[in-house]
Amino acid sequence: MRILVLLGAPGAGKGTQAHVLARHLALPRVATGDLFRAAARDGTPLGIAAQAYMERGELVPDEITIGMLLERLEAPDAGRGVILDGFPRNRPQADALDRALADRGAAVDAALLVDVPADELLRRLTGRWLCSAAGHTYHETAYPPRVPGVCDIDGSALVQRDDDRPEVVQARLDKQLGALADVVEHYRAAGLLRTVDGRRPIAAVTSDLLDAIEPIPYWRSHP
Ligand code: ADP
Ligand code: ADP
Repeated sequence: MRILVLLGAPGAGKGTQAHVLARHLALPRVATGDLFRAAARDGTPLGIAAQAYMERGELVPDEITIGMLLERLEAPDAGRGVILDGFPRNRPQADALDRALADRGAAVDAALLVDVPADELLRRLTGRWLCSAAGHTYHETAYPPRVPGVCDIDGSALVQRDDDRPEVVQARLDKQLGALADVVEHYRAAGLLRTVDGRRPIAAVTSDLLDAIEPIPYWRSHP
């Protein structure tokens, strides 16, 4: 099982990169935020419980989050491994993931930190648009779609998230960055942390991430 963890503050570019890495590495992208939003849309008890936390920019409690993620890892498409986008987000989640993988004789391969300064995060999140079909990401000024309001990749309508309003964005940054620092330290101590400069253009960040995990430099295999 190949388990890659993408780490970064809200708005750092985890989702953007996870979609590209998933295609390159032929692994499914597993995003806890997407799982919560799908559950909220379906009106399940888990989704309704999660929505209240998401609207306040807080982390959803671990009792809900860890069980949901571990269940997702049981699905057949996760058998070869996954790219985790948005999990783990605090130390107890990182510990729970390590334990669950160890039970299967597996472990996290690498934790990839997409590093972006706080002032840039606000600009990225408030200008973010997502495709309604698969969550492909756009930015209204930095990375606009070819046709306004339409996903380049699958033609679905673009939407903005409720929690990307400026006041919720600030709450998410205030409430979540401390826990992210703990997770980063966890993987640094385990020797698994690789940090890339997330301020670079999307394609350059992708190339740096692939260089961090693949034995052959990306530029050499894609001249
Ligand atoms: P996350 O999943 O970490 O919250 P996203 O991947 O959704 O972040 O990206 C947040 C916003 O920033 C989106 O609008 C996206 O288009 C934009 N973005 C992503 N990567 C970059 C980059 N390297 N440079 C500038 N903008 C980016
Ligand atoms: P972002 O793109 O800003 O990083 P996500 O889509 O990953 O946001 O997450 C949206 C919201 O879902 C978070 O603000 C949080 O409320 C909840 N959430 C997502 N993943 C987790 C997690 N691993 N633990 C707790 N809450 C989570």
